[in-house]
Amino acid sequence: MSSDWTIAEVKAGAYTIPTDAPEADGTLSWNTTTLIVVQAHSAETVGTGWTYGSPACVPVVNGLLADVVVGRAALDVTAASDAMVKSLRNVGRQGIGGQALSAVDIALWDLKARLLDLPLHRLLGAVRDTVAVYGSGGFTCYDDHQLREQLTGWTQRLQIPRVKIKIGESWGTCTDRDLARMVQARNAIGDAVELYVDANGAYTRKQAIRVVADAADLEVRWFEEPVSSDDLDGLRAVSGSVHADVAAGEYGYDLPYFRRMCQAQAVDCLQADASRCGGITEWLRVAAVAAAYGLDVSAHCAPNLHLHAAAATPNLRHLEWFHDHTRIELMAFDGTTLPLGGALRPDPDAPGHGFTLRAADIEKYRDD
Ligand SMILES: [Mg+2]
Repeated sequence: MSSDWTIAEVKAGAYTIPTDAPEADGTLSWNTTTLIVVQAHSAETVGTGWTYGSPACVPVVNGLLADVVVGRAALDVTAASDAMVKSLRNVGRQGIGGQALSAVDIALWDLKARLLDLPLHRLLGAVRDTVAVYGSGGFTCYDDHQLREQLTGWTQRLQIPRVKIKIGESWGTCTDRDLARMVQARNAIGDAVELYVDANGAYTRKQAIRVVADAADLEVRWFEEPVSSDDLDGLRAVSGSVHADVAAGEYGYDLPYFRRMCQAQAVDCLQADASRCGGITEWLRVAAVAAAYGLDVSAHCAPNLHLHAAAATPNLRHLEWFHDHTRIELMAFDGTTLPLGGALRPDPDAPGHGFTLRAADIEKYRDD
């Protein structure tokens, strides 16, 4: 073993993959999802990270962040991460810059764990062997059949005891259909499964409170982004008026964002996305901020990307088994598994995060 390993190369590529059916939430619709993969090399070892976003992440990695990171000590991920953050000052830490940063940071953590021949969750310091997930999808554009098939696929085939559907269709202009779909979801999953909803910021404050009041007999446990995540007073008002836990945080790119959200008592559970907020380095710090406010964190999307960090986070509630990303991750990476019984288990033997890019299988989706 050598503690002198240096980072020899960092390279990103983008793959734009069609969804298996049109997807929509309360405030956006899409037919493709772009996976940005970063690979970091040291000696013969390769670490892999990824994010979901714009192909514009690729030139940020290859043209800026790689120059900052190459030549640094591969074991000193924190130094590399700090240097990348500083290099983004004039490019912007939010959005594309943050997603590019996140993918490189995760590649570096994977690289370090592989160099040390350790599973990543053991390198980080594991607190659990398995990580709870909830099924997530239930797109507003699904018909009754699609919704039922997806929900029962999670609850019956995989035995996942928590599911989430999208509501707030067309910026909150279809609340009758939102309620009908919540009823349909409850009927499909039965009484024993927890029902979560996500409005993606589509409602106004009082509208959000009325919607869950009208759904009182459905036992909604989780109300995500009932109003815009930028409306911290509104989130707090909804949280104070409903039984469900209010959650938000998926658009957080730096620690001050999460601190403001916690300080405003805007959420009952803080969401964070390691593919946006700055990778595993920042995820762990976000979880510490939440812990200081007595809050759990829940990982937003990209379940496999979060798995090892989640296993090393004491105040972790669950991972989001998001239909769009799980489909892509099962297709693009060897080593991924299904969450039978409602939990994922990080491989206790494989070095790094244990996921290997199936480059040949996704080459046809590559953007060039
Ligand atoms: Mg959401």
